[in-house]
Amino acid sequence: MQTGAVQWIICEHCDSLYEALPLSKGESAHCLRCAAVLGRSHRLSIEQLLALSIAAFVMFVFANVFPVISISMQGLHNEVTLWGSVQALAQGQITLIALVAGLAIILAPALQIALLFWVLFHAHRNEIAPGFKMCMRTLEHLRPWSMLEVCLLGILVAIVKLAGMLDVHAGVGLWAMAMLMVLIVLIAGKDIRRLWDELGVEPL
Ligand SMILES: [Zn+2]
Repeated sequence: MQTGAVQWIICEHCDSLYEALPLSKGESAHCLRCAAVLGRSHRLSIEQLLALSIAAFVMFVFANVFPVISISMQGLHNEVTLWGSVQALAQGQITLIALVAGLAIILAPALQIALLFWVLFHAHRNEIAPGFKMCMRTLEHLRPWSMLEVCLLGILVAIVKLAGMLDVHAGVGLWAMAMLMVLIVLIAGKDIRRLWDELGVEPL
């Protein structure tokens, strides 16, 4: 924590300037002019975030190893994993879409989990992780690329649409993916930016 110098926060909605005051657990600061939320106290400790990132890794493995959807019709049975669906896309004429899908549902979440674990593991030991600034910036860039929720929604729509014609079941992989999505929202959100302050790293 910095002492002495006053810290300022700018309202993201109306550009009002406020002096940043420390918040205690459960408190939040609101803009006086437009009532937007300026900041909230952190609900999760570093230890909890670290534990959640390990849980996210386990869920990621489950989501990739187990089938996300299984289909049966007249005695025929077929299952597909996330990787299998990306491969299936790659075989057609839409290889580019396979690349984007692979990035959005496999590579981006994997990188997010790895980077989060790296910075949190070191923060937990009160150290600044090697390559901290690069990791934090990469995490910011990855957030819009991680689209598990879009993929999940697509699979659910497919299940509902196919259910009338075929025997369709959600696989273990799909449940793991749903949990992974919640975990990523919890740990890779904007809340992680506080590590800059807590470890006293200057962004420049
Ligand atoms: Zn405002």
